[in-house]
Amino acid sequence: MMPQSPNPKTPKHPPCPPMTLGNMREHVIALIKRHDIYANWVGRPDRAQAVHEFEEIWIAPIYSEISYATALHEIGHILGRYQTRTYLKIA
Ligand SMILES: [Zn+2]
Repeated sequence: MMPQSPNPKTPKHPPCPPMTLGNMREHVIALIKRHDIYANWVGRPDRAQAVHEFEEIWIAPIYSEISYATALHEIGHILGRYQTRTYLKIA
């Protein structure tokens, strides 16, 4: 049973199916390709980083929800607003 939204304008739709590792990998690769991001691979998610100015990320292969979330986080540094060094003091 889907939780009821308190907002009556929220459209009702069936719950999304769970993401598989394959879905997560495809999503990350699709974002990288669509936005022409330079992607490099690192061994572990805690080595991930992004350089907004060069549209370049370092991410770990997607083997878990953690590496998926980390990859999305780094992609967000490229695509998101307020990501220049003027706004960011830490990665
Ligand atoms: Zn970050």
